[in-house]
Amino acid sequence: MKTDEGKCVECKVKGNFRLKGIRSTNPVAVGDYVQIILNQEGTAFISEIEDRKNYIIRRASNLSKQSHILAANLDQCMLIVTVNYPETSTIFIDRFLASAEAYRVPVKIIFNKIDAYSEDELHYLDSLINLYTTIGYPCFKVSAKTGEGVALIQEELKGRVTLFSGHSGVGKSTLINAILPEQDVKTGEISAYHNKGMHTTTFSEMFPVAGNGYIIDTPGIKGFGTFDMEEEEIGHYFPEIFKFSADCRYSNCTHRQEPDCAVRKAVEEHYISESRYSSYLNMLEDKEEGKYRAAY
Ligand code: GDP
Ligand code: ZN
Repeated sequence: MKTDEGKCVECKVKGNFRLKGIRSTNPVAVGDYVQIILNQEGTAFISEIEDRKNYIIRRASNLSKQSHILAANLDQCMLIVTVNYPETSTIFIDRFLASAEAYRVPVKIIFNKIDAYSEDELHYLDSLINLYTTIGYPCFKVSAKTGEGVALIQEELKGRVTLFSGHSGVGKSTLINAILPEQDVKTGEISAYHNKGMHTTTFSEMFPVAGNGYIIDTPGIKGFGTFDMEEEEIGHYFPEIFKFSADCRYSNCTHRQEPDCAVRKAVEEHYISESRYSSYLNMLEDKEEGKYRAAY
């Protein structure tokens, strides 16, 4: 816990915290604002958790109601992706974006490893940037290795709480290390919460960055997890599909076989990209099959 004066205090949780609809293994999450009662030994009790503007949870399993709050009060999320070494699929990107829309967390897409791409890969990268910028997701090109583009990311982090996400291998740790001031290289010293008692042990870490911002990293967690929704709701989380769906004949159109579907027409006329539409169909299929599949 860090006080308003910037002092770090070790805290215990006091009393029972009830979380609306969530049974959690740990009531306090990384990113929470809390009230504390200091005692003479210099330690403190957390007496109150302030309302969260948003939070992301991870369910221990589909059957269990046990959940785990990974992070709270996020201002934005940076999704780190690569077009090679390894390639991040557009399905993964689109599922991630849709779940972030559902959680109302704005996403910026960071394309890493630009030092390593061939000309063809750089062309593909530019077409992805064009696609996602047009939909409304700001995109950035960086190389965590050479430092190119990192200063711009640092600007975007100022004054905000930012969740870092991405498939393993995309260079998330390398990028966080490139961002943090040298003396603070990521060791998980402060604010590391350990939530045990689940099938897997996961924890989130929070790092202060220059300009009064914080990075939250959730090692081993690639995305936001599943969220419950109706079939016709999935399209609401694809902004461009949602926009065109206003002109579909049926208000609950799922944009598959229905007659007079404005979304399918927009795909045919290339106003909506094929890759986005297939990601959308892919999420619908999972929903149909009642499959448990995380949103990443
Ligand atoms: P994480 O699993 O996302 O945390 O990925 P790491 O930070 O561990 O990086 C995975 C691998 O990619 C390591 O071998 C890094 O050296 C390499 N890597 C990370 N960033 C870059 C980059 O910008 N360019 C290149 N060429 N390699 C990178
Ligand atoms: Zn439709």
